[in-house]
Amino acid sequence: LPSHAELQPCDHTVAGHDGALSDANGELFIKPCMQQEIDFYEKAFQEHPDFAALMPVYLGTLALNDATDASSLNEQLPAVAEHLSEGLKEEAVLAVKETLGKAADEPADGQGNIAWKPNKNRRIVTNASVVLENSTYGFKKPNILDAKLGRRLWADDAPMEKRKRFDEITKATTNGSHGFRIAGMRVYKGSDNPEELDSEDFRIYSKDYGRFQVNKDNVVQEIGKFIFNERAGIDEDLGRAVAQAFLGDLRRVEHVLANSETRMYSASLLFTFEGDGEALREAIEQNNALASEMEEKNRELDLAQETVAELEAQVHSGAIEGDVKVVELMGDVAADSDEDGDAELSTLPRIYSLKLIDFAHAEWVPGQGPDENSLLGVRSLIKIFEELVR
Ligand code: ADP
Ligand code: MN
Repeated sequence: LPSHAELQPCDHTVAGHDGALSDANGELFIKPCMQQEIDFYEKAFQEHPDFAALMPVYLGTLALNDATDASSLNEQLPAVAEHLSEGLKEEAVLAVKETLGKAADEPADGQGNIAWKPNKNRRIVTNASVVLENSTYGFKKPNILDAKLGRRLWADDAPMEKRKRFDEITKATTNGSHGFRIAGMRVYKGSDNPEELDSEDFRIYSKDYGRFQVNKDNVVQEIGKFIFNERAGIDEDLGRAVAQAFLGDLRRVEHVLANSETRMYSASLLFTFEGDGEALREAIEQNNALASEMEEKNRELDLAQETVAELEAQVHSGAIEGDVKVVELMGDVAADSDEDGDAELSTLPRIYSLKLIDFAHAEWVPGQGPDENSLLGVRSLIKIFEELVR
């Protein structure tokens, strides 16, 4: 099935069900899901901005079924695009159309790989999909790790059989010892043996890796294999910088979760960073350069504003005669520099990303306090990354 390769970001998923879609550029991630996940995203983006900032940007939903055709899609797309900034809108709509056009052309392979006809996929019992920002977009060689959170992995509505099965997994894995396990992982040039690499030179660690190979005694070392990789030009220093960046975000995640009232079972933290050492260095340099450029601009702006404030004060006190128009002018300067910054930011190569994902079994529970079950995993990851930066 050669055309499968065109649905590129399907290859970028490291865990979970088949059926996620994206365009070839990978800007959008479209995942078939149940209403519960849609509700969780809606609530987060409407009422909990701090929490929403931990999630991939939620752009809306699409209903896909056998009856979905170009015209019904066209009707749905404006609602999706509503959440996007003007500049992105057109691109996103095109991307969705292109993706779905391709998916529709795909022959069904009987394994549910192309699941936008969800009725044909035994694992997907819904026609709804969330449309998300693809967090692997903008990376040259994205290294990805999916850390499935929780000691208890099942929600209140799970049948006894599932509870038992998941509790067995917890007992046998780092879900038990650390409150998370590696559900999937991929590392660019992650092996010396070419046979262990895929066609893009990634070493893919399947879900069995986190279940049968990673344990409480080697988990720091195994996550180290994700971060440090001399083969790809990621040495101690560079790796430590990446770990430090993740550590900062992890602390933020802990803070927000500790101040939120949710229950999430089997949600994940999705770690992504640039796996090509050279591209990583370049991305860091470019981001730093822009940061200092913006700092410089801000300093100039502050100075100018101080001067204006002084002038104003003098005008108002009648000390000098003048025109307060200068204030408006300053406003324009500020707006200009903001726009520049935004444009430059969106074209910068990416360094890393940490996102909370998979809310199939998540809900808001006002009045019930923080989600200690998920926090356990986050806190263990903080400790592990503290060791990695040392
Ligand atoms: P499932 O319910 O099938 O487990 P997940 O939400 O956990 O679905 O997603 C499965 C996999 O898809 C993740 O392990 C990750 O690799 C990838 N993925 C999920 N959300 C995104 C996203 N927004 N951007 C990029 N990749 C994603
Ligand atoms: Mn998942």
